[in-house]
Amino acid sequence: MTDRNPLPRHDVSPAAADRDRGTAADSTEVDVVIVGGGPAGLSAALNLGRARASVVLVDAGRPRNAATLRSHGFLTRDGVSPLELRKLARAELAAYPNVRVLDRTVASALIEQPGEGGLRFIAALHGRRAGTPPAVAARSVLIATGLRETLPDIPSLRAFYGMTMFSCAACDAWELQDRPLALIGETSDLAARARLIARWTDRLTVFTNGSEAVDTVEEAELAASGIVVERRVIDDLEGDKGAVSAVRLADGTRIAIDGGFVRPQWHPVLDFLGGIDLERDRFGNLVTDRSGRTSVPGLYAAGDAASPGPQQLIVAAGQGARSAAVLVHDLVGVRTAH
Ligand SMILES: Cc1cc2nc3c(=O)[nH]c(=O)nc-3n(C[C@H](O)[C@H](O)[C@H](O)COP(=O)(O)OP(=O)(O)OC[C@H]3O[C@@H](n4cnc5c(N)ncnc54)[C@H](O)[C@@H]3O)c2cc1C
Repeated sequence: MTDRNPLPRHDVSPAAADRDRGTAADSTEVDVVIVGGGPAGLSAALNLGRARASVVLVDAGRPRNAATLRSHGFLTRDGVSPLELRKLARAELAAYPNVRVLDRTVASALIEQPGEGGLRFIAALHGRRAGTPPAVAARSVLIATGLRETLPDIPSLRAFYGMTMFSCAACDAWELQDRPLALIGETSDLAARARLIARWTDRLTVFTNGSEAVDTVEEAELAASGIVVERRVIDDLEGDKGAVSAVRLADGTRIAIDGGFVRPQWHPVLDFLGGIDLERDRFGNLVTDRSGRTSVPGLYAAGDAASPGPQQLIVAAGQGARSAAVLVHDLVGVRTAH
């Protein structure tokens, strides 16, 4: 049957959204400010846009996976470059005039407004682009700021990170399978990570870099699975053009590897939240309910910034979508099973 009255591309027309709310393009008062334009923030923006919310998304442009050339495990996009994934998402958002994306813009402060409902938050912005408003007021805010990583202090590690040294086995171990691999770290979960990575290779050496990260009981358990623990301090990694070839120890010993994993320290960067007293877990990540609500009404969190911390792209995107749905329900005061 032919549709005699075809709707515009979106069921809820952009024109209607403009009429009812004003586009986010020029407004400094919106339903939602999203801080962070990784998969969590972008997925939330798409779903909020489709729900006719006026949205400003601000993104500083420093995603956690910036070091890598290929992302794996994102359904329909396995192997895509991180940049391309973000580009595709932004292109989709362009169809929603009620969503405004402010690239290269940092939310430097979030201030809670007194009073119930209404415009509960003001986000102070710093953008390099002309026309970036200094502040935007919002009914709700979604924090999707991801995590920063500190790698073990090994001079050349950054040169190999994202190329042949990685941090997420689920993301990158497939490409390294059956090779001689290193796992480098200084935290107490190192033995557990080693057992996981041993799924992909039977030639794994765990480097504690002089730390006590692996105790003697764990070392014996790992040895029983053919995993070697090397406790000496690392001088540096060797290799060329991103392809690691050896771990060089402080005493000059070289242990040949073809790739490996590192256990970074992860830190949420949430200074902009200033005086807002939000519940955090012991690592500093934001504690939320299973729908992304934080302990402060109107404030939501999704992706790596939310407890339990580092995840994967598709998980972050899923959390963003879920938070968006719940946020809309909360805005209109509808209680659902979420
Ligand atoms: C080397 C490496 C390789 C990886 N490979 C894979 C892979 O193959 N597959 C996979 O699924 N996952 C991979 N990951 C993990 C994946 O990158 C993260 O899980 C994912 O990016 C988390 O998404 P997010 O939206 O929470 O945060 P991010 O993608 O980190 O995005 C957060 C954004 O918020 C911005 N931001 C932070 N603070 C502010 C602020 N105050 N104002 C404005 N903007 C701000 C940041 O600049 C950034 O752009 C990898 C990670 C690393 C380190």
